[in-house]
Amino acid sequence: ATQERVAVIGSGNWGSVASKLIASNTAKLSSFHDEVRMWVFEETLPSGEKLSEVINRENENVKYLPGVKLGKNVVADPDLVNTVKDATMLVFVTPHQFMEGICKRLIGKVRPDAQAISLIKGMEVKKEGPCMISTLITQLLHINCSVLMGANIANEIAQEKFSEATVGYREDEETALKWVLLFSTPYFLVTPVQDVEGVELCGTLKNVVALAAGFVDGLEMGNNTKAAIMRIGLREMRAFSKLMFPSVKNNTFFESCGVADLITTCLGGRNRKVAEAFAKNNGKRSFDELEAEMLQGQKLQGVSTAREVYEVLSHRGWQELFPLFTTVYEICIGHLSPSAIVEYSEHKPNFA
Ligand code: NAD
Ligand code: 13P
Repeated sequence: ATQERVAVIGSGNWGSVASKLIASNTAKLSSFHDEVRMWVFEETLPSGEKLSEVINRENENVKYLPGVKLGKNVVADPDLVNTVKDATMLVFVTPHQFMEGICKRLIGKVRPDAQAISLIKGMEVKKEGPCMISTLITQLLHINCSVLMGANIANEIAQEKFSEATVGYREDEETALKWVLLFSTPYFLVTPVQDVEGVELCGTLKNVVALAAGFVDGLEMGNNTKAAIMRIGLREMRAFSKLMFPSVKNNTFFESCGVADLITTCLGGRNRKVAEAFAKNNGKRSFDELEAEMLQGQKLQGVSTAREVYEVLSHRGWQELFPLFTTVYEICIGHLSPSAIVEYSEHKPNFA
């Protein structure tokens, strides 16, 4: 039988860990070709060297995942089209704001029989409404796209600490099981769920709640307040998802992609960390400035997602139904002070 060839589009913090996970499996499983080709958005390091060349020499992404070997079968490639050329399985894992441009560059360049999966937490908002990244991939590249989301702080998985994840798929269970096989390791337990939109919206929306949790931390409001914010946030995540896609299942929120990802991100994620610093500075330093200073090239997804969610809410006149999402956005753009995050809850959402 012919072997599947895997390409990873993206090589940031999670992209590098995903490549490592996948490469450990392709090296062992005969149904996959060993090599995992990983697209690198090329940059020049302070040493003057190209990042992709250093990754291939050191077998390590020295900028986005220092100290972790990726596996000798990971090959960094700065040429996007060359990366995907022969691939039958495409793993998309870049910050969401770059995906539309990347997909446009890939039109007509991927194999028509390729399958895709998105590990990207975020969405685009078009005139017609929200467009999930998996949908963007399917619409522009005419290939099926599943998603993988979960309580997956990349640096912890890099150290092979146990965690779970959820694969969301549309119809094709056989393909979903192929993705499960490609990602599963003894320390990475993957469960398939037939609910792409639910899984992807969980991963996307929890980043907005994580900003709220970070504000609470910055204001030193304590654990009870943070738990309340997480609970209210989870309710808004479910309500928003179901209004957008009535097919979204309640059970999805109990999978790793739902409540577990919400918890880990509100405890240990980058959105939380930068939002805490934002609140400590009482909003006087912008998210862009704090992101550049604190994350050294890694990207926040929550701030742009808060704006994208707000665009959907304001277009439909739903702001009052989603006080937490709305307040996070207003804080991010400086219309409200961070302390507003605990004041808004007087306006109770209308639905359970
Ligand atoms: P990251 O935050 O490390 O982002 C940096 C990456 O973006 C680098 O590879 C950089 O080269 C690239 N980049 C910068 N400018 C670019 C441009 N103009 N065009 C294309 N690429 C550019 O990335 P990440 O952590 O791999 O996150 C990717 C996705 O995975 C996000 O949606 C994120 O929410 C999700 N995710 C991240 C984690 C995590 O712990 N890091 C865990 C789960 C999911
Ligand atoms: P942050 O981007 O906030 O670090 O969240 C990472 C994540 O998605 C964990 O699953």
